[in-house]
Amino acid sequence: MVGLKALWSARSEWFNPEGREQRIKDYMVLTNQLIWKRQASFFAVAVLAALYYDPVWALTCYVIVSFAEILDQRLGRQSEAWDGKDTVLGRKILKRIAFNTAFSATAISLFIVSIAVQQTTGGHFTPLFFLFSAALFAAMYNSQMIAILALRLSIYGIAFIFIAFLDVIRFRPPLNSHIWLEFFTITLVLYFVADTSLKFYLGYQERLGQMKLLKEENERTKAALEVKSQFLSTVSHELRTPLTSIKASLDLANNGALGDVPEHLKPVMAIAGKNAKRLANLIDDLLDLQKIESGEMAFRFEPVNVNELVAEAVEATSGFASKLRIHVTTVPCAADGRIMGDRSRLMQVMQNLLSNAMKFSSEGSEVEVRVETFGSRIRISVEDQGVGIPKDAKDRVFGKFTQVDSSDNRKVGGTGLGLNISKQIVERHKATIDYVSELGSGSTFFLEFDRLKESDGARAGLEPVAKVA
Ligand code: ADP
Repeated sequence: MVGLKALWSARSEWFNPEGREQRIKDYMVLTNQLIWKRQASFFAVAVLAALYYDPVWALTCYVIVSFAEILDQRLGRQSEAWDGKDTVLGRKILKRIAFNTAFSATAISLFIVSIAVQQTTGGHFTPLFFLFSAALFAAMYNSQMIAILALRLSIYGIAFIFIAFLDVIRFRPPLNSHIWLEFFTITLVLYFVADTSLKFYLGYQERLGQMKLLKEENERTKAALEVKSQFLSTVSHELRTPLTSIKASLDLANNGALGDVPEHLKPVMAIAGKNAKRLANLIDDLLDLQKIESGEMAFRFEPVNVNELVAEAVEATSGFASKLRIHVTTVPCAADGRIMGDRSRLMQVMQNLLSNAMKFSSEGSEVEVRVETFGSRIRISVEDQGVGIPKDAKDRVFGKFTQVDSSDNRKVGGTGLGLNISKQIVERHKATIDYVSELGSGSTFFLEFDRLKESDGARAGLEPVAKVA
């Protein structure tokens, strides 16, 4: 049954182009990879044959077998260049593989049979062992194409039977002679080789099937991700435009620009304004995430002065800080602290770190932002005296839509996306983001970048930066 299945596969290898490219390529890659292994075996056999039998014949056979190797190498290059689409070329390569196989298997068999013929006494251990090794080698490494493997093994099989019959014909021994015993043993070995080949072939088939399944699964996942990202982008854009005008109107009304809001409506209007802002933040985060993941977020790298960046971020969040009554201090670095970065994206990261530090601190506490240099690196740290982060929460802190604390316990809302986006932005700068924290005592988030050297600045056409003493 299994044999019939293998035969059917052999037929489809020739007539069905599906999977043929993979088989041919796998076959040729392995054939070329093993060239030195094969050459070493041929050489060893040739040397032994030359020492113990006719050296001229041994050398001639070695040259013929090596010529078959050269043909395989040439074919390997041709199949490498083949794109798998040209089916005519595919059939041509397959025919050449068949020809090369027939040629090299015949050359090897003739070589080995000639050794057996030169042996005058029975018990052809040496040639039979050579043949067995060649057959096992083929079974192990040529299992990609059952038809080709069968061709090679058939030729070796003929050689096996020839050697087995050699002494039977020469000595015409009685059935109880050891020559007949050898003959039957060889038949058993032949069966063993055929069975092993089939096992290797079926193993290869299974691997091919699994690879196909994995490929299909991968395609499906890619397609689903594409749809998800398209959906997210469309929904976010469609929500953003009307929301912008709703938020703007609510802001105008809440600021009194549209006239006095009746006292009893003020709390409701304030809640509506706050929620419109939360929704706008969420949509902005979703759009950013989608852009980063689809590789559409453009980064404009330029030299950025880190002290200036930090000062700007602290300034931009000062309104939020005074609302939460948090005091922010800045400790700039003394040395030339410049990095290559996208200023607006880095501002986004800094604002996220600062607003988190404020959000998770109690009223009246301190937040310190420090810039330090360490050799060729520069570090920005944002330290708070807030609630802190429990151990083993890194995945949730930097995950998507994940928050360490429960949303019900928060005084200020969030999406759980900010640090995930920040991490991706930082990684695009080939920099790192991390934190240390103690539950109940506070957290320090830090970013580490490569410093821009003065020579880099000169290359970018910049003014040399004066060192701050
Ligand atoms: P969110 O929008 O919820 O702030 P982030 O991605 O910015 O989302 O942060 C993820 C989670 O990490 C927060 O919900 C919070 O639980 C925790 N976290 C971040 N920064 C701090 C901090 N400075 N102190 C305590 N917890 C923090």
